Amino acid sequence: MNRFGIFVAAVAGCLAMTISVSAANNVSTHGTKMKTKKFSIAFVNDIHAQLEPHPELFWQGDESERVHNAGGLSRIATAFKQLEAQRPHGMLKIDGGDTFQGSGPGAWTQGEVMVRPLNALGFDLAIPGNWSVAYGAKQLQTLSEKVNYPMIAANIFDAKTGERSFRPYLVKEVNGVKIGVLGFTDPDVPSRQPPHMSEGLNFQAAKVLQPLIDELRNEEKVDVVVLVTHIGLHKAVPLTRQLRGVDISLSADTHERTYEPIEVGDVWVVEAGAFGSLVGVMDITMSEGKIVDRQWELIELREDKFAEDEQVKKIVDEVLAPHRERMNREIGHTDIWLERYNVMSTSMDRLIADAVKESAGTDIALSNGFRFSPPTAPGPITEADLWNWLPLNLEIKVGKAYGQQLIDYWESEFENVFSKDPLRMYGGWLARPSTNMNVQFDSTAKANERLRSLEIDGEPVDPEKSYSLAAGARKGQPEDQIHRVKRCHVTKQIEQTTHDAVRDYLANQGDVKDTGKPPVRCVVRPEVLRSQYLDFIKRRQQEHEADPHEAELLDENAQHDDPQTTVNSSSDSSKKETKDE
Ligand SMILES: [Zn+2]
Repeated sequence: MNRFGIFVAAVAGCLAMTISVSAANNVSTHGTKMKTKKFSIAFVNDIHAQLEPHPELFWQGDESERVHNAGGLSRIATAFKQLEAQRPHGMLKIDGGDTFQGSGPGAWTQGEVMVRPLNALGFDLAIPGNWSVAYGAKQLQTLSEKVNYPMIAANIFDAKTGERSFRPYLVKEVNGVKIGVLGFTDPDVPSRQPPHMSEGLNFQAAKVLQPLIDELRNEEKVDVVVLVTHIGLHKAVPLTRQLRGVDISLSADTHERTYEPIEVGDVWVVEAGAFGSLVGVMDITMSEGKIVDRQWELIELREDKFAEDEQVKKIVDEVLAPHRERMNREIGHTDIWLERYNVMSTSMDRLIADAVKESAGTDIALSNGFRFSPPTAPGPITEADLWNWLPLNLEIKVGKAYGQQLIDYWESEFENVFSKDPLRMYGGWLARPSTNMNVQFDSTAKANERLRSLEIDGEPVDPEKSYSLAAGARKGQPEDQIHRVKRCHVTKQIEQTTHDAVRDYLANQGDVKDTGKPPVRCVVRPEVLRSQYLDFIKRRQQEHEADPHEAELLDENAQHDDPQTTVNSSSDSSKKETKDE
C-alpha cells in the first residue's frame, strides 16, 4: 500500500465514527489489559465575526440540502458545555483562526467586539488566520493580548526584531496525556491579503515546523503532537503528509466540512466548516504512549439541537447594542434566498457583480469568489448583510482589456480552482462575473485548455476587441490590474465603492426576485459544486481505482511542484498571484 495515499475514510453517514489503528489489537495482550487514557479536542475555525445565530445551509453527500437556523457564539458555548460534561476525562478547546473579521461589527470595532464573548467560551488556544491581519499587525497583537487564552503561531515573526510574535507551540496535559499543539498560519498572508495589512510581520514557510515537532517529541517529551494550520484543507493534507511526527491535523481557512476525516497515513486531517455553524470533536484513546482508538464527529450547531447559552447570549447582545441601529438599517429587500456556497456561481455574487457593473457602466464586472457570509434569508436586506457579503469596502477600478486578456484570465482562474495539483489551488472559488458574461469550461481538461466558450451579451468574445471592465480595487495591487486581469489599459478608480454599488443597485432594482442564470458553467459537472477539495479527493479516488499510476504521479507533483508549501523550502510570496478569499 502506498503509505502516502490519501483517502476519505469510507464510512457512510454523519455520525461519529471509529477507526481503530492497528495498535488497538494490543490493548489486551496475554489477557492483561493495558491502561488506556482518553482525551478530547473540540475544534472550531473561521468564525468570521459571526456573533449571532443565522440561517445556515447544510448538505452532506447526496442528501438534499437543508436550511436551519444555526451557530452563534451562545450556541458554541452550549455545545462546549455539553461535550465537556460528556467527557469527564478532559477536552481541549481550539480555535483555528479567522475569528475577528467577516462582519460589520467586526470591521467597525477592528475585531474588539469579539473579545468579551470569546473570553466566555473558555478556549485553550487559538491560531491566527490569514484574516487576523485585517486590522493590521499591531491590532492583531492587541487582540491576542485581550483574549484570555494564548494565540500560537510557529511561523510569524516581528520583521524588525526577528523575534517570534507568538509562542510557536503550547504543551498541555489532559488526563495525564502530554499534548503538544503547534500553530501554523498561511505563509502567503503578505500576498493573499492586501500587503499593508501584514506590514511589520514576517511569515515563514513550513520548513519551521519539523524542528519544532522534533523539539516537542525529544525535549518536551509530549505523547501527542497536534498540528493546527490555517492554510486550507488542500494544503493541510500534503503538509501533514510531508511532516514526521504529527498525530492530529486540524485544518482551517477553506471552510470545508469534513464529516468524515481525511486519512493521511495514520493521521486524521479535519476541518470544521465556518461561521460557528459547526463544531468538531475528536476523542482519542491512548495506551503506552500510542493512539489506539479515535473518533471524530462534526456537529451541526442547529437551533433544533442546541439551545443558546443565556450568559453568552447576554454578552453578545451587550457588545452588539452600540451597533444595532447601523446593523439593522435596511438597504433593500429580497424575495429569494441569497447564498454563497457554490464553487461555480452563486445568487449572492451574481447580485454583487451586476451591481458593480451597473455602478461602473462598463461592459462587464468581476468579483471575488469569496467564502464570507452565511446565507441571507428572504426579507429585508440590511447593512449587516452587506458587510457580511463584503467585509472589505473596496473602491471600484475601471479600465479596458482585450478579449485575449479575458480568455487568459479565465484559464488562470480555472487553474486556481481546478488544478490537478492541490498545491496549486487557491483558497477561493471561481471568480464571479456579471451575468451578461457567459463562461463555459471543462474543469477536467489540461491547464490553459479548459475554456469552451466565452460570450459577452450573447456575442462571442473577440480576442482583438477591447472591452471595458470593473472590479473592487485592492490596496497595493498593480495599477494596471483589474481583479486578476493583468495589463489593463486606461485604468482609473471611480468615486463609488463596492458597498455603494450594492446599495444603489438594491435601491434602483426594488425587490430582488431573480439573480439571473449562472454565468459560469462547467460542461462536465453538475451546476452545484459545494466543495473544491473534497470533490477533488473523491475524483482522484475514483481515478486511482481506474489507474493507480495517476495517483502516484499526483503525489509526486504534490511533493515537488510547488516549493512554497514543501517542507525545507523558503517562502517567496512575491511570486504568488494575489487572492484574498
Ligand atoms: Zn482563512
